[in-house]
Amino acid sequence: MSTVQSEPTSSVASRATDLVARARAAQQPWAAKTPEQRAAMLRQAQQAILARAAELAELIGAETKKPLAESYSSEVLGVADLFAYWCKYGPGLLRPRKGKVPSLEMPGKTAWVERLPRGVVVCISPWNYPISLPMRTIVPALLAGNAVVLKPSEITPGTGRWLVDAMHTVLGDVIGVADGDGEMGAALVEAGPDQVVFTGSTRTGRKVAVACAERGIPCDLELGGKDCAIVLDDAAVERTAAGIAWGIVTNAGQNCSGIERVAVHAAVAGKFVPALVRELQRAAADVPELVTPAQRHLVESHVRDALDRGAKLLTGELTPPEQPLPPLLLTDVDRDAPAWKDESFGPVAVLIVANDDAALVALANDSRYGLGASVWGGDLKRAEQVARQVRSGMVWVNNHSFTGAVPDLPWVGLGDSGTGVTNSPEALEHLTRPHLLVIDRASALEAWWYPYGPAMVELMKTVVDRQRSGGLGATLRTLKALKTRMAEIARARQN
Ligand code: NDP
Repeated sequence: MSTVQSEPTSSVASRATDLVARARAAQQPWAAKTPEQRAAMLRQAQQAILARAAELAELIGAETKKPLAESYSSEVLGVADLFAYWCKYGPGLLRPRKGKVPSLEMPGKTAWVERLPRGVVVCISPWNYPISLPMRTIVPALLAGNAVVLKPSEITPGTGRWLVDAMHTVLGDVIGVADGDGEMGAALVEAGPDQVVFTGSTRTGRKVAVACAERGIPCDLELGGKDCAIVLDDAAVERTAAGIAWGIVTNAGQNCSGIERVAVHAAVAGKFVPALVRELQRAAADVPELVTPAQRHLVESHVRDALDRGAKLLTGELTPPEQPLPPLLLTDVDRDAPAWKDESFGPVAVLIVANDDAALVALANDSRYGLGASVWGGDLKRAEQVARQVRSGMVWVNNHSFTGAVPDLPWVGLGDSGTGVTNSPEALEHLTRPHLLVIDRASALEAWWYPYGPAMVELMKTVVDRQRSGGLGATLRTLKALKTRMAEIARARQN
């Protein structure tokens, strides 16, 4: 679907090239500032955005159909927190690390491992959280000294442009925005940035990864999911049902970490299933419409296919297109059906009952995705044990998914959910490159330099022996061997 006028491919390519070039020119003076100076400017950018928070929240609602409460809770607030976290902790996290160099064999050296910006980061973003998702990359990337070009989804172009315009007034060309659809995304990769951070579907992510690999560009992928909630037999029924209902329907289920599968212990199913049905029915009033007709068609096709194969709806029904889709809970779903296997990205989940913890874990792990999962239970030790057996990047005990709004915690998946990390100090490893700087204050020649001789071999043997046995005796033998070796070098150089 396209909301922008189509333009000749060469013009898309040249706009992409211009954007990357402009960002590249601005990046060097930006990187020359200290992290503290950059943090001070990012605080001003935060103020520029938050001063117009109400306008932003309205715009998000208009483009994504989110209720105003969610525009604030999952987008505007998230942005405020991201700036606050990175401006406070980022400079410390970027401080160079002093490397450990063996002082006996390699005297007089100081090594610094610095975190340098990669250069120009292209951030390709989806429409479901058009502000908070790209900002998880934009804020730490800028703080680390990169320039960023944002490619928002064609479905939410206004929000992306608003955000970048607000930041551009303070930061200038280190932040840019690329209007356009997937063709523009591909052209930005072609334009040769230094890093691509892609959030979106597994299908597109694969294409982006191939294009990056062909050009040797590092690439982070944050992709789809099919999260499972495991309900143990000692779960607090009411709270668990309320939490899982939220996990299924928040943002109309258009969440990479939306709960799309619920695996329930048979011993609690009799109480839990009616409670979940009640919660989903109660939530119906707050569920917005799906963002696009295409998305709705996909969700409905999963439900229809499951029903055709013999599944039942425990709550909800397929409604005419002019009415929003209510929360839908399916049971008796064939595990080969797309409703079980593929990401639906709507207010729909599949419920399945099993008799013990091992069977519940096996159900959760029956997926090619691996983004999030949750385990709900009263005995926290047991719940933690179950949680550790689930194959996913993130697992929450007695909650789901809320940590996307906590900047210190990594957002990470595996398998078809991608390999990227956003949020947290760990994300800096992707947005910067390690750079080694070594200062040598030694005046003597090195024991491993030419010319080689028998004393060199003896020294190496002594060093190996020291690694093997350790202790003072081995250190003294190494010192002696070093002395002999240095004398050997000196003799050889006199000839
Ligand atoms: P898409 O994969 O369709 O699009 C994502 C972005 O990629 C859009 O900006 C799109 O542009 C752009 N794009 C499309 N084709 C290309 C290409 N060939 N090269 C470069 N860029 C391209 O995803 P959706 O926008 O539909 O978002 C929904 C998906 O995102 C879901 O699968 C969801 O699970 C996932 N997601 C993952 C998250 C995570 O953290 N793991 C978080 C949130 C969502 P355009 O839209 O303009 O065509």
